[in-house]
Amino acid sequence: MNLIYDYDLNDLQNYLLDNGLKAFRAKQIFKWLYEKRVSTFDEMSDISKDLKAKLKEDFYFGNLEVVKRQISKDGTQKFLFKLSDGCLVESVLMVFDYGFSACLSSQVGCNMGCTFCASGLLKKQRDLSCGEIVLQALSIQRVLDENDNRLGNIVLMGTGEPFDNYDNVMKALSIINDPFGLQIGARHISVSTCGIVPMIRKFALEDKQYNLAVSLHAPNNELRSKLMPINKAYPLEELFSALKDYASSNNRRLTFEYLLLKDINDSKKEADELKNLLSGLNAYVNLIPYNEVSENDYHTASAENALRFYDLLKKNNVAVTLRQKKGDDIDAACGQLRANNLK
Ligand code: SAH
Repeated sequence: MNLIYDYDLNDLQNYLLDNGLKAFRAKQIFKWLYEKRVSTFDEMSDISKDLKAKLKEDFYFGNLEVVKRQISKDGTQKFLFKLSDGCLVESVLMVFDYGFSACLSSQVGCNMGCTFCASGLLKKQRDLSCGEIVLQALSIQRVLDENDNRLGNIVLMGTGEPFDNYDNVMKALSIINDPFGLQIGARHISVSTCGIVPMIRKFALEDKQYNLAVSLHAPNNELRSKLMPINKAYPLEELFSALKDYASSNNRRLTFEYLLLKDINDSKKEADELKNLLSGLNAYVNLIPYNEVSENDYHTASAENALRFYDLLKKNNVAVTLRQKKGDDIDAACGQLRANNLK
């Protein structure tokens, strides 16, 4: 038995052909899966009885069970989903003025070991399959369906390192983007990485207009290596060399995530270094307020320091936003809900 959401259109066409069936049925099936969003084969009314029976033999739907759902005052909703083997993953639905956005997880736990992050508290148990990533988006779309709303944006910024599960993530995104799939435009899809250089180079060759976000969090190697062990493997020189190549081949703007941590990376010195590091790049900096995690000793930068940091970048013509905290009355930090649930 295979998870039906692990199959992209091409896989499904091949499956049909291998079984002596017509390839065009794949598009019909996709329509049921992603447009009508049914969760049984019996609901697929224009599919023959025989084909339904065959599909039932070979595939299951694997719908995610909602173990916990938290709704914040600002509309943010956090879901803790149970996978078919019992593993738990988190996804977040956010409401922006430009529409609804889902933040998806790519792995169960994470091995990147960023010292400020709750996801790393529990080492990676396994990668998510393509279908398990798609199912997070689909489950959130089903919640939005209750009010006839449409999911318009996807960010791969939940638990896990998407580039440590590259193939499954890319396949899931192709289903999410597919005109017969969830139909979310590539420019509305972002992948966030801690900076796995060979995969950034691979991503640059993808024939898609996805956005790339890089979790930077520090403007020099000494500090970045302390916060993010990945920096020891791929220091800033290598990271920026890959990013420059990416930017020149894709002509796309890069997003940099920068968490403001009190007395760690929030002074004028780091703001100056950051501005220099980004000079000449078509970059956009997202300054993120830190969601405090009880297991470590990092704190959110003061509003005063955050503003000074923001102003300094702004004055130097760096495109920058100081992100509002979303869902801070719920367990909205990466991995927080899952970690708290397993305690
Ligand atoms: N591994 C990928 C994607 C998952 S983390 C990456 O590193 O980009 C998604 C983002 O949330 C990253 O920028 C991460 O550094 C940030 N993050 C982690 N813990 C956080 C916390 N407690 N508060 C705010 N942001 C956090």
